[in-house]
Amino acid sequence: MKSIFKNVFFTKGHNRTLVFDSLKNDIFFVPNSFYEKLNSNNFTFKVEDLSTDEYNFLLENELLIDVDNNNLRNFSDLRGIIDFPFDFKICVIELSEAVSFQLGKLLLNRMLFGQLNVVFSEFSNLKSIDCLIAFIDELEIDCIDLTFETGFTEYEYLFKSISKDNRIYIINNNTNKKIVDDYHSFNNRMFRPNGIKESKITNDLSVYFESIEKNTYYSDKLFIGRNTEIKNSKESDYIYNHLSDLDSLNSIKLLRDEKFIEYWRVTKDKIIVCKDCEFRRFCNDNRPPIKGKKFYYHERECEYNPYISKWSEEDNYVDLQSAGISIEKDDVIIDKDKLNTINEYIWD
Ligand code: SF4
Repeated sequence: MKSIFKNVFFTKGHNRTLVFDSLKNDIFFVPNSFYEKLNSNNFTFKVEDLSTDEYNFLLENELLIDVDNNNLRNFSDLRGIIDFPFDFKICVIELSEAVSFQLGKLLLNRMLFGQLNVVFSEFSNLKSIDCLIAFIDELEIDCIDLTFETGFTEYEYLFKSISKDNRIYIINNNTNKKIVDDYHSFNNRMFRPNGIKESKITNDLSVYFESIEKNTYYSDKLFIGRNTEIKNSKESDYIYNHLSDLDSLNSIKLLRDEKFIEYWRVTKDKIIVCKDCEFRRFCNDNRPPIKGKKFYYHERECEYNPYISKWSEEDNYVDLQSAGISIEKDDVIIDKDKLNTINEYIWD
C-alpha cells in the first residue's frame, strides 16, 4: 500500500486544491477530483488506483510512503494546537515622539510579545528612535520587524543605533525607494518581499494550525498607533484606550474586552469568498470582516480570485463580477456557465 505522509495537508478551494508539505514548506496545486479520490480512501491507496500522472506527481514530490497494512494505524493524524507563550503574538508600534515617551509602560507588567513590528514614517524622529532603542534593549525577543513608510528620513541614524544588535531584523519596505543598511555588524538583516501575494500568504505550519480556529491577522495582536491609541490592529476602528492616559497596560483586562478581541475567532471559513479559497489556511489578509446574517464578508474585493485561481497581478485575471460571481443574500451566487467559459479560456 501507499499512503500520503501525515505532514502533508490538503485545502480544497472552489477551483483547485492546495497541497502543503509542511516539512519542506512546499506548496503544490492539484485538481479537486484528485484530492477527492485520495480523501475518499483516507489518503491510502494502491498504485493502480491512480493515473500515471497522479502517481508520478506524488512520487516526484516525495509526498507518499510505502506502508504495510498492519502498520497503517501507527501513522496518526497531526492535530495542531497552537498556544503562544506570550501575552501577544505580535505588537505593532507606529513610532512617533508621543508613542516613544510611553513605551516604558508596556514593560511595567512584564508583558510578553512573540514579535515586534515597528512602523517608521514621517512621524518618527531622532528622539523617538532613541526611546525605541532603550525599549527594545529591555525586550526578550529574537526577531524585530522594521516597516518603512514613505516620509521616514532617519535611516542612517536608526541603522547605526542598532548596528551592534545581533537579533534578526526583518525589513519591510513600503516606500518606492531602495533601502540600504551598511552598518550592521552581523549577517542578521532580511528583506521581506512586498508583492501582494507575498504580503498575504505565509506557508507555515503554525499559521496552518492557527487558522483552523483563529483569524491569523487579527488574533493575538496589539497595535499602538502614533497618537498612543491602543487597538487590536491598525485597521480596527475600536480604540481600547490611549497609552498616554494609562499608568501601565494590563493585558488581562485588555483581553477581557469583547470589542478588542472581536475579530480573533473570525476564521476564513466564516467569510464569504475566503471560505472557497484554497489559500485560506495561510492567509494574513488585513481587511476587517463585517458580520452578515449567515457569513462575514468584506467591503473591498481581495486581490485573489479563487474561482479562477488568479492574482490581480497575473495575466488573464478578472474580478469576481466578470467571472460570474455575485454576492446575494449574504452568500456567493455562481453563474456556472460564465465561470466555466472563463476557466476554459484561462486554463485549457
Ligand atoms: S480570497 Fe483572498 S483574503 Fe480570502 S483567503 Fe483567499 S487570498 Fe486570502
